[in-house]
Amino acid sequence: MDYREYREKAEKEVSAYFRHCPLCSVEGSMEFQWGVIKDTMTCLNCGAKWHINHGLTGFHWAKLIKDNAEGRGTELLGEKKDPRFWEQMGLNGFRLIKDAPAQVAREKEVIKEEPATTQEEKPWWWNSLKYFVHGLLFSVMFLVLTLAWTFLFAILILLGLFIGFIIGFIVLFLLIGGLNSVLADLMWDITVKTDWKNLLSHGFVLFIVLFIVDIPAIAINFIVPSLATTIVFLIVNAFIYGFAAKKTAGHWEEEYEEND
Ligand SMILES: [Zn+2]
Repeated sequence: MDYREYREKAEKEVSAYFRHCPLCSVEGSMEFQWGVIKDTMTCLNCGAKWHINHGLTGFHWAKLIKDNAEGRGTELLGEKKDPRFWEQMGLNGFRLIKDAPAQVAREKEVIKEEPATTQEEKPWWWNSLKYFVHGLLFSVMFLVLTLAWTFLFAILILLGLFIGFIIGFIVLFLLIGGLNSVLADLMWDITVKTDWKNLLSHGFVLFIVLFIVDIPAIAINFIVPSLATTIVFLIVNAFIYGFAAKKTAGHWEEEYEEND
């Protein structure tokens, strides 16, 4: 399956779940939009907006990122839900579904003493592992991107020395910001603002932060270059990278828009 086929299939699948707007129940008002970082579904009738997570294995979830013009859905802002949840909401009408959670809660009280398996306590090392994976993924993907970027940078500089230099760095910061936005969403469920201005500032700040983090490794490798120190720093820095990258992404986290 090539990319175009995938997109067509994905759009069809997502649209099937969003035949009715979950918030205003109007049929055929939803518009699917492909984005560089995230895909969205917007209701042209009421202005509600969802972040759509669709991958090769199908439609995973949709997260409400903007409530509707009548203020409906405010309590669901930032909630990641199964496609079926939104579909049911659109079919039943918003009011009907809105009463449902209370009923479910009452039923739960009756059952009682049932351990909440969904909110399982994670072991103490869980976050450290996630920082490590975030940092490692960032390093590896950044390395690949940098290789491609170096070619572009060389060409840009040949074309026009100063302007090329500036454009080259703008592209680099956009790449860093974009990469970290994807990872922050994947690892921590942080939805980052992804317009170019925010990606640029996010990438710039992270570039500076990671550069500072790298100084000890660069210095020691310069004084006593060895494979052992390189590997030790690679591992230690992955934790620090991950931590710094997550904290940075947090500053660019999307605020959910509330309609008045
Ligand atoms: Zn709507």
